[in-house]
Amino acid sequence: MSHSVHRLHLASVNLQGQFNPPTYLDTRIDVYAYLVITGSSDVLLIDTGVGEGNEYIERVFEPHRTPIAEELARFGLETTDVNLLVNSHLHFDHCGNNQLFPSAEIFVQSNELAIARTPRYTVAEWFDYDGARINAVSGDREISAGIRLLSSPGHTPGHQSVLVETVNGNVLVAAQAAYTADEYLRGGDPAEQAHKGLEDQYLRSISRLKSVAAREIYFSHDDRGSVIEKEEKFLPPGGVKT
Ligand SMILES: [Zn+2]
Repeated sequence: MSHSVHRLHLASVNLQGQFNPPTYLDTRIDVYAYLVITGSSDVLLIDTGVGEGNEYIERVFEPHRTPIAEELARFGLETTDVNLLVNSHLHFDHCGNNQLFPSAEIFVQSNELAIARTPRYTVAEWFDYDGARINAVSGDREISAGIRLLSSPGHTPGHQSVLVETVNGNVLVAAQAAYTADEYLRGGDPAEQAHKGLEDQYLRSISRLKSVAAREIYFSHDDRGSVIEKEEKFLPPGGVKT
């Protein structure tokens, strides 16, 4: 398939929330989304960054945003060109601008939708608004030729990744199935990233994603990712701890 995958930088945010581990205090992280330009008329966006207008998010996370329309314009696209939208999960920094995509069918895992409708999980109005065309999925699903949702729970109950077939091999948008490329290579560190009680699922999802043998792997909060599977063989057995 002549699909291509492109990283969009949508925001940077503080990691000072009560939900983050102490090692992340006083640092900022980047928030990435991914654009898949397909060989057909489909245009897929994976995640939509941080929304606007929430007092708590502004105060605690101090987001600096790049307008998503600006990022799309680099590829000659407008928000109305996006007809497929995938939320890897529904934390506030992954679904914040869903409402900017009125033409899009939105793919979310059904158990993610369920937990996101409970209090204090996310900013609910950023994904649950009048006119949102949400398609609740359970498990894996092909959403366009050569583009497949892969269920990868652990970071959240309904986290999902996206596998894209390209002429040069598979490209995996792992999203936040792991926090960084290094962590992914080590097989995952659930202490830092897993939803409480889902530590085993977190590790299983990473080993499952590794089994698809992608040429390139992309993450929500790490801009490393290209050809990292090749580097893996240089790590000692059992990986390295940093
Ligand atoms: Zn998250």
